[in-house]
Amino acid sequence: MPIHILPEKLIAQIAAGEVVERPTSVVKELLENALDAGAKTIHIATQEGGRKLIRVSDDGTGISADEVELAFARHATSKLIKLEDLEHLQTLGFRGEALASIASVSRLMMTTRHYAEDIGTQIRIEGGTITQKIAVGVPNGTVVTIENLFYNTPARLKFLKSENTEKRHIVALVTNYAIAYPQVKFILEQDGREIFRSIGNGQLADVVVRAVGLESFKHMLEVSVEDPAQDDRPPVRVWGYTSAPDLSRADRGNITLFVNGRWIQDTKLTYAVVQAYHTLLMTGRYPIAVLMIELPPHEVDVNVHPTKAEVRFREPNVVFSAIQRAVRMAVIGKANAPDIRLRGGNSSAPIASTEATWNLGSVRPRTAELPLNMTDTGQYPQQYPQKYTPDEEFDLSDIPEGLGLPRNPRTLPMLRVVGQVGAMYIVAEGPAGMYLIDQHAAHERILYEQYMARFSSQEIAVQQALSGQTITFSPSEAGLVLDKLDALKAVGFDMEPFGNHTFVIRSVPAILADKDPVTVISGVIDDLQADKQPGMGKIEEKLIRFVCRHVAVKAGQILNHQQMQDLIRQLEFTRNPHTCPHGRPTLLHLSGDQLAREFGRGG
Ligand code: ADP
Ligand code: MG
Repeated sequence: MPIHILPEKLIAQIAAGEVVERPTSVVKELLENALDAGAKTIHIATQEGGRKLIRVSDDGTGISADEVELAFARHATSKLIKLEDLEHLQTLGFRGEALASIASVSRLMMTTRHYAEDIGTQIRIEGGTITQKIAVGVPNGTVVTIENLFYNTPARLKFLKSENTEKRHIVALVTNYAIAYPQVKFILEQDGREIFRSIGNGQLADVVVRAVGLESFKHMLEVSVEDPAQDDRPPVRVWGYTSAPDLSRADRGNITLFVNGRWIQDTKLTYAVVQAYHTLLMTGRYPIAVLMIELPPHEVDVNVHPTKAEVRFREPNVVFSAIQRAVRMAVIGKANAPDIRLRGGNSSAPIASTEATWNLGSVRPRTAELPLNMTDTGQYPQQYPQKYTPDEEFDLSDIPEGLGLPRNPRTLPMLRVVGQVGAMYIVAEGPAGMYLIDQHAAHERILYEQYMARFSSQEIAVQQALSGQTITFSPSEAGLVLDKLDALKAVGFDMEPFGNHTFVIRSVPAILADKDPVTVISGVIDDLQADKQPGMGKIEEKLIRFVCRHVAVKAGQILNHQQMQDLIRQLEFTRNPHTCPHGRPTLLHLSGDQLAREFGRGG
């Protein structure tokens, strides 16, 4: 093939790949244009997760009739004239690429009227070609409608994520922008249903409560506008909301950062937020945070990537520590003091010292609130012989028949409880030596097998919830719950949509007996949202694993001897006593030989 210059249209389609990767990116570009145009109200409507239709309407400046065509030309922008303008950019856009890119891979219609003109314009573009342009009488502002995104780039279409995934991303995007721009009213409608609405009264708290849901908001702390520290060069201001240590999530996806009003992705800065919780959150748990970071525009390079989601700082370390400090102040300042300070210690003692007492982690011992033999799982009632000797032959008749469940063969030797360590581990001995059992992992394993057995035989016992008990989710969680209603019901959670992201709880699995159903359901939905392999495995099994995680006795709970013995007894009869349902070990075994070796007792 001879070398030739690609036709303009093909260049646009190729370039479009960088800017518009998926429906969410289209919504983002249109939102940013509306914000740049000074809109006070932005209405977003999508169908089928944006694949079929995306419409963004704003009441911003509008585009004057003789510039409408130009707006769709590549590298056409009203926001930048010379390179130096990038240094003090006040707008989100500047590359002049979005409209051209979107128009080249969709069927687009724009209706717009500039505020200083009497008559508006309507333009239709198909795959980059203008097919119609007429004058119309319309209110001031701009409406962009995109249909059949990627209709002419089948490869892109094929790689699109599921409709529900896309819907959730759009909800997250819109709520995040609503938080960053509390003075603008955002309305999001998906498939004809209103999913989210902010008031636009400028109050950050009003938006955050709608974005994260009331339940979570109760656990959010304000990171308040603070003057930059004296030694901060450049001055960096940080404000927003971050969760108290009692509210956390299983992934970092709920840490949202804006730099000068621009939503950015930055692993380092995300880490600064996580760092601020040092020792306050368990490993693998992350806060929910929405933070606005403001610094002089010339300190940030926003022209790093076509989607503008990555930025570079002239002084990244200053930004890092400003974030860490602001979040830390909010968290320590308002967290419940006894929770994070050493008992009887100096009140200004560093928080890290809670760890010093026990090298086992930083959990606070609490007395178990629940008897381990839960109503639904009581495979083996409580009458076990009180005395065990290590080499006692175990008589199966000692354990009464389970409640309609097949009894498994013994998979561990009979163990005798010696005691508890750090309110986390049970020390036990058996004929083959010493065992250290992780109480949480072991209980998870027991619950999981019992739950699964009942699920397989379709005998899940449910308990009617208190009448009228409801649970309210954030918009994106609510979407997920709606999506999984059937699976949730199959494992015992019967919930009914009640509008406004609220669900009435009809029944819960009886395994939850004396747990707060709202807490457990929230935790399970959180796990589901953080699920790294959404397609893998049966959803019901996953849900059951998640429920067991939340119901199982926690590390930090002090167990009495009987509770420990019950737990171990049940573990001895599980199919896979050595790992929890998530694959972590439940127990460590030190054989008599190993012990002898360690103590140099010959051999
Ligand atoms: P950029 O935002 O980088 O300038 P775009 O392709 O997104 O590039 O938009 C091109 C131009 O079209 C913008 O610079 C702006 O002048 C105009 N424009 C786009 N959307 C709107 C809108 N909603 N309201 C007013 N003007 C708009
Ligand atoms: Mg733009």
